[in-house]
Amino acid sequence: MKWTQTLIPTLREAPADAEIISHKLLLRAGLIRKLAGGVYTFLPLGLRALRKVEQIVREEMDRAGAVEVLMPALQPTEIWEQSGRAETASNVLFKVKDSSGRQWFLSPTAEEVITTLAANEINSYRQLPKNFYQISLKFRDEIRPRFGLMRAKEFIMKDAYSFDTTDEGAMASYKKMYDAYTRIFARCGLKAFPVEADTGVIGGNYSHEFMVPAETGENDVAFCEACGYAANIEKATSGIPKTAAREVGAATEKFATPGVVTIEALSKEPYKVPANRQIKTLVYIADSKPVIILIRGDDQLNETKFAAKTGAVAVRPATPEEILPLLGAKPGSLGAVVSVPADVKVYADERLQGANDMTTGANEDGFHLKNVSIERDIKVTAWFDLRTVSAGEPCVKCGKALKIRRAIEVGHVFKLGTKYSEALNATFLDVDGSRKPPVMGCYGIGITRTLQAIIEQGNDKDGVIWPLSVAPYQVCITPLAVTPESQAMQLAEKFYAELTARGVDVILDDRDERPGVKFKDADLVGFPIRIALGEKSLAKGEVEIKPRNAALQAVKIEDAVGAVVKLLEASPAN
Ligand SMILES: [Zn+2]
Repeated sequence: MKWTQTLIPTLREAPADAEIISHKLLLRAGLIRKLAGGVYTFLPLGLRALRKVEQIVREEMDRAGAVEVLMPALQPTEIWEQSGRAETASNVLFKVKDSSGRQWFLSPTAEEVITTLAANEINSYRQLPKNFYQISLKFRDEIRPRFGLMRAKEFIMKDAYSFDTTDEGAMASYKKMYDAYTRIFARCGLKAFPVEADTGVIGGNYSHEFMVPAETGENDVAFCEACGYAANIEKATSGIPKTAAREVGAATEKFATPGVVTIEALSKEPYKVPANRQIKTLVYIADSKPVIILIRGDDQLNETKFAAKTGAVAVRPATPEEILPLLGAKPGSLGAVVSVPADVKVYADERLQGANDMTTGANEDGFHLKNVSIERDIKVTAWFDLRTVSAGEPCVKCGKALKIRRAIEVGHVFKLGTKYSEALNATFLDVDGSRKPPVMGCYGIGITRTLQAIIEQGNDKDGVIWPLSVAPYQVCITPLAVTPESQAMQLAEKFYAELTARGVDVILDDRDERPGVKFKDADLVGFPIRIALGEKSLAKGEVEIKPRNAALQAVKIEDAVGAVVKLLEASPAN
């Protein structure tokens, strides 16, 4: 490719709305352009890199035995109603109407479509196992799209769906995808690692996310360096001990706490009740019913864990207007010892199990209760692990201190079970003659997000540092004189032809620009190898070869092509 033939609109400065380095570089290197918030055009170089990521994903999916299909982006709402997700996923679904007034959803994922296909086409155990995948445009009604391709309204995703006759078969399919993902991210030059994850609105009972460590990531991951335990903070548990039991005191005792409405205020003079001896009482609305959640004063409620443990789909804190008629007090004075309506469930964090000598609100503004013994004084409906773990807590597996870091989620594997096959009436005739729902798994990779994660992980002050495997072009040839009769241009054309013939992706910078501009642009776009042909070195019979992240070397003209090929072969992730 000649530079002047394609479109590489590099920018000195990134637009102000680009906040993170990878988003800035996508724009500055001329890889993408914004059309509207969360909606982007891929320019020629961005598209080349994207296609290379897709190709790696395709090769590894094929190698793992999955077969490619292409499903419609336009999906009838009926199948979403059948699976129950028309409501549970409603806030992210793009809804469109056709001219007859019929509503459709724009695909954010395709469990419903593929299960409908399986219901019609798969009838016997002889046809199983099967794993179908597609690479296609997906839509998500993000209210606040941000960080470029990281959180966009439309994006490219690889989604795969496995169907097995048994649970063991489904686990084997899951393992194949897990291993394929490990290879995919390694081939993309990404340091991605798997973590245990919540299954959320997709459903299912077993799940891992593949995470790329990055300060700008939108996920927190708890991990243990000693034993390798790693989990999304929404799922992570720790071996932190339960609240220390004390001598059981007398009955509960009410005391005045005028104006005290926070854990912190109660821990100070004159009350001096440490946060770890307080019970925090929260009121939530779970699937439109009020519930009470008890958590230790020094802990934080993890809403995702709460939803997962109780099976609730829509969870939000209750408003003061909802709380007052329910418990007779305002937030800050709430407690579950007295006046909890009989039909309101009380969920408590396991760390409070057996705790006594605790203090909590009296359900009366301006008063608290002390000497509370939780199992004696509060009717707890169920105990769950509901707290968010913090750095330094003991690992649940080995007891060493946990660490927490930010990360970008690039892939997600789920074991779904029979949730979708049952809901959409997919069955097969088993070997014993009985009809059964196939056991499913689903497996996603955000292709556009992976591309951006590669840039987030590989860059320096001058621009992108691509792994060879996904660089838009592997080699940039930069003649400093570009007239057709110049020695530099003639040699550049010769190198271009020879390298192309050897299967190397080459771009020739034929612009009539100052050397500084050409070198700056090549570094900004981040071509792994640059060959500079300048008058001075040519006079010595040499050219300059500059790997993007290594030192420049002068090489004899006749050795140049061989030297470049050698560098490419030695490069990791090629
Ligand atoms: Zn550990």
